[in-house]
Amino acid sequence: MYKRRKTQDSPKSSESQPQTLCSCQAIATDNDNALQCDACDTWFHPGCVNVSPMAYTAYQTLAEQQQFSNWFCSKCLNDKNVDRVPPRCRQTLSDRIDKIEHHLTTLNNKHDQLVDRLDELNENLEREKRRKNIIVKNLSPVESTNDRDVVFRFVQNHLGVKIDPSSIDSMWRFKTSSATDNDRPSLLGIAFNDLSVRSSILAKAPIIKNSSDALVKIVYIRKHLTKKQSLQAFEARQQRDRSQEEQQQSTTSSVVNKDNNRLNQNSNVRRDNINNNNNSTNNNILNNTQQKQQKTRRYHRLSNRY
Ligand SMILES: [Zn+2]
Ligand SMILES: [Zn+2]
Repeated sequence: MYKRRKTQDSPKSSESQPQTLCSCQAIATDNDNALQCDACDTWFHPGCVNVSPMAYTAYQTLAEQQQFSNWFCSKCLNDKNVDRVPPRCRQTLSDRIDKIEHHLTTLNNKHDQLVDRLDELNENLEREKRRKNIIVKNLSPVESTNDRDVVFRFVQNHLGVKIDPSSIDSMWRFKTSSATDNDRPSLLGIAFNDLSVRSSILAKAPIIKNSSDALVKIVYIRKHLTKKQSLQAFEARQQRDRSQEEQQQSTTSSVVNKDNNRLNQNSNVRRDNINNNNNSTNNNILNNTQQKQQKTRRYHRLSNRY
């Protein structure tokens, strides 16, 4: 609160003040030097409250410069219930807290943006790294034969693609894949120099599953995708299957509607027939639900496998 001459106008002095009586029991008039308590708003003569003229001038200067300065009368100073944070100070603090919070929100947003951008860059980098790769699943290592030769032989025998050794940059076994599947060989990664060889292998890969040899049949060759790409591909498959399912359902329901129309048009329809029809509709619904469950189970298996 301001410490000032009473003669200086302040918002407080224009309001109806509760008490302007100094401890000397005389009213501090507009002509007196006076000091206002920051808690009870009572005005005091500096001399009556042991405030030296120098201290008074100092308080006054601080008040004129709109600086914080607290002064409490002895009664308020000893009262534990008195809130000694001056209202002006509280407002300023609250403004500063608002500013800091705003600043923090801005920083958090910027941080989130940077993290997103970093994720994006990282994803692009990972995609770029994988662009020339393929992944081979369930191709068992062959004793005393290196993986390169196993792959060359497999690709030539089962896909009819001859690989020039110079078209392969590197080949490696993933260490993590065997942790969940102990009886399965680790995933094999192949990085190509020659993208056309990679393309022809990927293009022919689907014929592996037609093989009569059980050990060949389980081998699966695919692109080396990032987690995000795999998830996107999975979601796209799911979406496609769902819309196919919806199409099937709408065809089924239009057939049922036509049946209903025909039944309604026939004035001699017996209640038994309607019941039968309802039952068959219920059966259809049950069948659809079962189909949906089966599909969900299939997705689950797929997501475990790939
Ligand atoms: Zn006094
Ligand atoms: Zn006071």
